[in-house]
Amino acid sequence: MAGRVPPGDYAGSSPHWLREPADVNALVPALWSSTATKDAEGVLRIGGLAVPDLVADVNTPAYVLDEDDFRARARAFRDAFEGVDVYYAGKSFLCTTVARWIAEEGLFLDVCSDGELTVALRGGVEAERIGYHGNNKTPMELRRAIALGVGRIVVDSFHEIERVAAIAAETGMPARVMVRVTAGVEAHTHEFIATAHEDQKFGFSISSGDAFEAARRVIAADGVELLGLHSHIGSQIFDTAGFEVAARRVLALHARIAAELGVVPPEMDLGGGFGIAYTSQDDPQPAAELAAGMREIVVHECRGLGIETPRISIEPGRAIVGPTMCTVYTVGTVKQVQLDAGAVRTYVSVDGGMSDNIRPALYDADYSCTLASRASSAVPVLARVVGKHCESGDIVVKDEFLPGDIAPGDLIAVPGTGAYGRSMASNYNHALRPPVVAVKDGVARVIVRRETVDDLLATDLG
Ligand SMILES: *Cc1c(COP(=O)(O)O)cnc(C)c1O
Repeated sequence: MAGRVPPGDYAGSSPHWLREPADVNALVPALWSSTATKDAEGVLRIGGLAVPDLVADVNTPAYVLDEDDFRARARAFRDAFEGVDVYYAGKSFLCTTVARWIAEEGLFLDVCSDGELTVALRGGVEAERIGYHGNNKTPMELRRAIALGVGRIVVDSFHEIERVAAIAAETGMPARVMVRVTAGVEAHTHEFIATAHEDQKFGFSISSGDAFEAARRVIAADGVELLGLHSHIGSQIFDTAGFEVAARRVLALHARIAAELGVVPPEMDLGGGFGIAYTSQDDPQPAAELAAGMREIVVHECRGLGIETPRISIEPGRAIVGPTMCTVYTVGTVKQVQLDAGAVRTYVSVDGGMSDNIRPALYDADYSCTLASRASSAVPVLARVVGKHCESGDIVVKDEFLPGDIAPGDLIAVPGTGAYGRSMASNYNHALRPPVVAVKDGVARVIVRRETVDDLLATDLG
């Protein structure tokens, strides 16, 4: 192994937003769940528990979920959006315990498959409080959802409208439907693109007239009730700019349906996508500010159109569960790699990777991390934390400053992994998917256990 990297050798190879921290041991509070702290020894504590003790029982990698923080974020959405129905997007992370917390905190729940529906019901969420999404729900999935009386089915194609109508007729169960529309707005962080064309698989286009036609067919179908229009413009949205353009287009269609079809849809869904901070470059607006901004836009538009404001619903996933979890890994190897410019990058390999967090590989997503098991006075080095999988794109944290004495056996914690971490985890390389450990008031509880080799082989018929 090469000698210690002198400070400054990473010059030019770190991203513009990443600053060398004044104290490499300190947490950046905006990235962590509310009970996360570092103690005098530099040990990360969550929910009153020292992370090294916590993972000693379950091994690494492990997701640590801060229950108080989860419930507080769920309540913050519910309270900030008073008078708005808040549907937690189950796809971001769902297990029976989390479904129960969602029900206990008075939220609704979105699912998009029979598997998610089953977990939601098993967690005690009432069918009427469940929304059902997806661009290709199978006939079996639709039949079960309608028979159970789910609160809303978000239809996404003309074929599906026919299918829902046929099932409603066959079972005698009414189907309450929202029509997913594409407003020609694609939002991501601070930028959004507004176009007339929508080259994507979701929704009925407003500009082509398909969305109006879908609403017409839903209204015409026996046993099918039109609840309203549904629009979801993207993810990691930091402000209301893109949302404003979308809301104007969706409300214009809403008003046209009322005027021309004689049916005033009672509701409207404005989707999810509320952003969170993964690194110090992110500065999302708090839920309360977004709520105020969104409410103002909707009320203002409705007044302008001379229509009554429909009952609004939203669907946050990431903004509720994302910051509530971190992933804890053990460092296995450290190596220093010479870069073209003569700079050096420290590669830190951990015992997980793209099987427990696919987002860096899939979306080029940035994360942050901290040494979780001790303090260090070593000079910080620019590090890249990588996984153990057989892909060079298997990156956990692309760029972060870590203490220069980072070594095998150290624990590293990556904040912000609650959304689309465990829920998108895979068995790539026959990895065993990590457990989720919920912590609260000094007590740890495994709510999803680690997979075993028997789990792995359960479907292998030999
Ligand atoms: C994914 C999704 C959400 C949740 O998105 P987040 O970014 O997790 O808030 C909400 N609604 C729909 C329709 C989605 O597809």
